[in-house]
Amino acid sequence: MDYYSKEISKLIEALASLPGIGAKTAQRLAFHILNMPAEQVEALSGAILHARQNVRYCRQCFTLTDEEVCPICKDSARDHKTIMVVENTRDLAAYEKTGKFTGVYHVLHGAISPMLGIGPNDIRLKELLRRLEGDVNEVIIATNSSLEGETTAMYISKLIKPTGIKVTRIASGVPVGGDLEYIDEVTLLRALEGRTEL
Ligand code: ZN
Repeated sequence: MDYYSKEISKLIEALASLPGIGAKTAQRLAFHILNMPAEQVEALSGAILHARQNVRYCRQCFTLTDEEVCPICKDSARDHKTIMVVENTRDLAAYEKTGKFTGVYHVLHGAISPMLGIGPNDIRLKELLRRLEGDVNEVIIATNSSLEGETTAMYISKLIKPTGIKVTRIASGVPVGGDLEYIDEVTLLRALEGRTEL
C-alpha cells in the first residue's frame, strides 16, 4: 500500500474491509471511484450514508426496512398466522422472490453457534416468542441447513412445542451448508412445500 498516497491507501483499505472484496478488487474499485465525476461519487457516498441512517428493524418481524412496520407486515392480505423464521433479510428476500409464500416472516439476524459464542440471547428469539403469544397457527423454520442453522431450528422447535403451535422445518432440498440466498426459486419452493412437522 506504500506505493500509493495516504488518501488512496485509505480508500483501498476501507473498500477491502467489505466482505468478498480482496486487495486487488479494492484497488480496482478505488481507482474507478477516483476517476468518476465528483457528482457521481457524491451520489454514491450519499446513498450509503442515507441507507445507513434511515434503515431500521421492522417492529414486528425485525427485517431491515425504512418504515416502522415493513410492507409485508403491513399487508392485511397476507396470512399473519403463518410465520416463517429466517436467519437474515437476504433469506427473506429469496423467499419473497418466489412470490408463493403468503405468510409473514420473523428475521433472527443470525443463528445459534456455540463455536462462535453466539447464544439464543444474541439473536431475535425472545421477540419471536413474544409474537407467538398472539394468534399463530404455524411456525415454519427456514434457517440454513448449516450446523448453526440446524442447531437453531432444533432449539426453536423445543421452545415452541409446549405452546401447541405447529412447528415445521423446510425440506432439505437445500444443500448442506447452503445459504438460502444463493439457491434457485424452484428449490426454495420445493423445500417449502416439502416441509415436515418437528
Ligand atoms: Zn415486518
